[in-house]
Amino acid sequence: MEKAEKNHKTLDNQGVISFSANKKWLSMPVEIRRKLEQNVWCGSCSDVVKIESYTVKEFSNVIVLEGICHKCGNEVARVID
Ligand SMILES: [Zn+2]
Repeated sequence: MEKAEKNHKTLDNQGVISFSANKKWLSMPVEIRRKLEQNVWCGSCSDVVKIESYTVKEFSNVIVLEGICHKCGNEVARVID
């Protein structure tokens, strides 16, 4: 039996840095994660870039990586669904 124990933090518009989201993210195959990390849109570069120094956040049902653009340092985010 799975224990339905949820450490519920407040979900606001900012999302939360979530342990469970991080766990979900890390449970994905590494090659998929690498692909997603390298396929992030940067509005400043107007190009697909690599995300760096990101944190894994959780919005209602999706995981979001929030970090900075590898090229210009602009803030970028990648939704994982
Ligand atoms: Zn950029």
